[in-house]
Amino acid sequence: MLSLSYHQLRKGTHLVCFLVFVCLPFVDVLRFDIPRQRFYFAGQELWINELAIMFFALMFLMALIGAAAMIYGRVYCSFLCPQMIFSEAAVSLERWMGRLVRRRASRLGLKARDRVAKALFYALMVPASVFLAFVFIAYFVEPADLWARLLSLDLVTAGGIAGAATTLLTFLDFAFVRLRFCTTACPYGYLQAMLADRGTLLVRYSEETAQCIECRKCVRVCPMDIDIRASPHQIECVHCGECIDACDEVLGNLGREGLIRYAWGDRGTAPLSAGAKWYQRLGLRDAKRFAILLVLLFYASGLAIALSMRHPVLVRLSPDRSTLYTLTDAGEVLNRYHVTIANRGRHDARVSIVIDGLDRAHLVIQENPILVRAGEMTQRDFQIERQAGPVDLAVIHFTLSTKTVPDGDAMLFPMTFITPSERGSM
Ligand code: SF4
Ligand code: SF4
Repeated sequence: MLSLSYHQLRKGTHLVCFLVFVCLPFVDVLRFDIPRQRFYFAGQELWINELAIMFFALMFLMALIGAAAMIYGRVYCSFLCPQMIFSEAAVSLERWMGRLVRRRASRLGLKARDRVAKALFYALMVPASVFLAFVFIAYFVEPADLWARLLSLDLVTAGGIAGAATTLLTFLDFAFVRLRFCTTACPYGYLQAMLADRGTLLVRYSEETAQCIECRKCVRVCPMDIDIRASPHQIECVHCGECIDACDEVLGNLGREGLIRYAWGDRGTAPLSAGAKWYQRLGLRDAKRFAILLVLLFYASGLAIALSMRHPVLVRLSPDRSTLYTLTDAGEVLNRYHVTIANRGRHDARVSIVIDGLDRAHLVIQENPILVRAGEMTQRDFQIERQAGPVDLAVIHFTLSTKTVPDGDAMLFPMTFITPSERGSM
């Protein structure tokens, strides 16, 4: 069976995450368009007032973050977090540049080579920061709009200034701050420390300390510059497993087992220990973890139901009772109505309104079907005109039905039509 080290697994995951991070805003899987006040989720364009979906999406994400922190510790930080991925990439790039310059410019002095390597590194970080800032802002602004601003070097509008500021912060972050952010400013790191319990996954040094040959390779490879042998509960540890690989390699060469392992808490077993059931291997080891899984499933189901019940074109019809009715000179009765149509889809739509169950009546409306452009909302007033009958009730119940093309969505709206009990205009 193919056996990967944690380092290889992490770098492969980093590559996948980088591609996902770059692609998500362009395919509208996850994007919050601030200027247009739209939330794009799983290819759906959600309007800011779609509370049920927003609620379930946010609660699901919060429950997911909480569950991941409680069960798997900081594995998210080391395997999936963009800050970690780009910080490590920047460190690798800087080291590679240093080696390259030392090899190619051997005639220069040591200090001069370091300066050239640094200058080249910073020069490469500038376009990389522009690219990363562009992708990051594309989560909040339409990518085509952003591209136009970038091409025109917009430093005048609020959007352009925000873009330039983000690019500068990205440069400073990955050129200078890097992994220091994880231990000083990252809110997820602090949250994780609060949510961890005795069964949370951590990286633990063996109790057989006499086996350690003091090579310190576990310390040298640690991206956070800590010594895991001091304690498994150091806030800097992001549970990346690099020290596990290092110790396995060193002691493996001596025919021994490594001394550092992933484990479920201080006294827990290794994640893949023999005899553990499949759900225990996944970290579902006590009632608390099953409870949070149920909460997660509840919000996921709510989100799935809310999304499945969603109509891309939303129609709202209501009577306008500022005037109960009007009588025409020809003796016909007029009632007013109001329609609001929100097209949250990606294509233009036409909505037609039809009267059901009200005889001798017809619509007085400027446009039917009503055209609503993609992403727009329109409101119209219209009237229903009806010949008065000999034995009319004061209030007649009927239905207005709407049909949307091209989705074919049909909706029914129970309505009332008011007629005069005594003839006369109101
Ligand atoms: S101590 Fe080990 S697991 Fe923790 S951050 Fe350092 S290398 Fe990664
Ligand atoms: S890599 Fe293993 S043997 Fe070497 S110092 Fe670390 S724990 Fe000890």
